[in-house]
Amino acid sequence: MFRALGDRMLQIEDVSKGYAGKPGLVPVLDGVTLSLARGELCALTGASGAGKTTLMNLIGLLDRPDSGDIRIDGVPVAGLRDREAAALRNRMIGFVFQSFHLLPRLTALDNVALPLLYRGVPAVQRRRLAAAVLDRVGLGGRAGHRPDELSGGQRQRVAVARALVGGPALLLADEPTGNLDSGAANGVMDLFLALNQDLGVTVVIVTHDPTIAARCPRRIVMRDGRILDDSRGGPRAVDGA
Ligand code: ADP
Ligand code: MG
Repeated sequence: MFRALGDRMLQIEDVSKGYAGKPGLVPVLDGVTLSLARGELCALTGASGAGKTTLMNLIGLLDRPDSGDIRIDGVPVAGLRDREAAALRNRMIGFVFQSFHLLPRLTALDNVALPLLYRGVPAVQRRRLAAAVLDRVGLGGRAGHRPDELSGGQRQRVAVARALVGGPALLLADEPTGNLDSGAANGVMDLFLALNQDLGVTVVIVTHDPTIAARCPRRIVMRDGRILDDSRGGPRAVDGA
């Protein structure tokens, strides 16, 4: 819709990261350069240990690179204090995890409303917003259910609603369908595609599932801490090329 100046959601420039290991520093990300436009939906794939989660943690401002630059919505994050980085994260980024990370004692509605509590949104507004987002993910009728009364696919939809309730521009999902059967996985993928289309939210999905990756308009492949491949277009475009 609005893709003029400043349409870069994410810019990563020559980012490296290592962890302390037996023979000194073990490199995990090795000069990653990557840029995402606002409104893109992309899959991030690659073998276990390739560095996908490490990269997502850097993008999500949960960790910092050893070197290189990261800009979120044009803001260089290197110069931010921890508190400023946390504020940017809360405002801009929603997270979805493989194991849902819902609080078991809370209803679906209260799980979704929780991020708003941390932001100081008044209770009436929290419930209203959470109910609207639960509706949006197709779970309006399950608002009063606790996680153990929901299927895996429904739990992940609740987690997606929780990630969305604060109105993030960027949604980061690390193996969101890894604990789901293929039917539920495709249902969650339908939801990501719809949210991307309808709300224009930029989405990055780490996945091992080729069916899920194939449904993403852009697919980035990592190996040994580097970007190995970066392709756009659906299977049809590939066939017709
Ligand atoms: P992926 O998500 O692609 O499976 P990760 O980013 O989780 O890969 O991990 C990449 C590599 O970094 C792995 O070899 C892993 O063992 C190592 N690693 C990840 N996190 C840490 C950590 N906190 N401390 C030490 N090594 C880590
Ligand atoms: Mg991982």
